[in-house]
Amino acid sequence: YAKAHGKARHEVFAPSMHAQALKQLHIESDLWRSIERQELLVYYQPIISLTNNSLKGVEALVRWQHPEQGLIPPDEFIPIAEETGLIVALDRWVLQEACQQLSLWQEQFPSVTPLTLSVNFSGKHFAKPDLTEEIDLILDQTSLKGEYLKLEITESVLIQNPESVAEIFQLLRERKIEVCLDDFGTGYSSLSYLHRFPLSILKIDRSFVSNLEIQDSNAAIVRTILAMADELGIGVVAEGIETTSQMLFLKNLGCQWGQGYWFSRPVDSETMTALIASKYGMAV
Ligand code: C2E
Ligand code: MG
Ligand code: MG
Ligand code: MG
Repeated sequence: YAKAHGKARHEVFAPSMHAQALKQLHIESDLWRSIERQELLVYYQPIISLTNNSLKGVEALVRWQHPEQGLIPPDEFIPIAEETGLIVALDRWVLQEACQQLSLWQEQFPSVTPLTLSVNFSGKHFAKPDLTEEIDLILDQTSLKGEYLKLEITESVLIQNPESVAEIFQLLRERKIEVCLDDFGTGYSSLSYLHRFPLSILKIDRSFVSNLEIQDSNAAIVRTILAMADELGIGVVAEGIETTSQMLFLKNLGCQWGQGYWFSRPVDSETMTALIASKYGMAV
């Protein structure tokens, strides 16, 4: 690329590309030590019922508190963790940490419908043959029932490894652990696997939610996803709700659940505890 555009351009671009590569290299080596150095954190974002505004559960979202670079968002290190294989250990750490926290919340805020926990799983992790043994161990250690745990995967996971994934779905089903399809609508969107795999929840990607009132086509897509999910008996969570009108729009279309900055940004466990307490009308 640089050659085709002449030498001058090459010289302009090279230093910054070099810096980028160096930064990446640093992140990569630091990431390996982040778990033992206890630099990873789990943030939580509420998932809310659009019908009655109640708190259905939380999604666990990892953060990295880097000693020099501060709080690093997952988009900057999850891809690196996936490349290097560290993602399996990272996902497992998040699962353990978040299950422990949910177990505490369920104890602290007993309710007729206990809170659920959604955890993001990379494809590398989801396809592991001993995945359910690992989950069993964590559920056992944290005294949490499988029915309150949901795993979020993306469409690509289903396509890359359909055979082993089908087996894992079966094992998860025996434990009442539900699987959610994250970022729905952004991937291959082959609808055949909605029949093939027992998915419980579709999470409509926020790109459809953000232009909902401006772009008629987005409203049509959301309407279609909702109708299809209803037909298949699958629940729907709309991601990335930022405004009152988006929330009302989705509610009027019959979308059951929502998540987004309008309700709350992802927050640390302490802030989430206060938020749950206020939802239940309790003091902490
Ligand atoms: P995701 O699972 O689709 O999570 C939703 C993302 O949207 C989160 O970004 C959340 O902070 C953001 N979000 C929520 N509401 C709004 C909104 O109203 N507006 C906007 N603009 N954004 C909103 P976050 O926390 O930066 O995470 C990014 C992605 O990183 C996640 O997307 C997920 O794919 C991945 N990720 C996060 N934690 C983990 C983890 O523990 N393991 C794995 N494998 N992936 C993770
Ligand atoms: Mg997710
Ligand atoms: Mg998503
Ligand atoms: Mg995502």
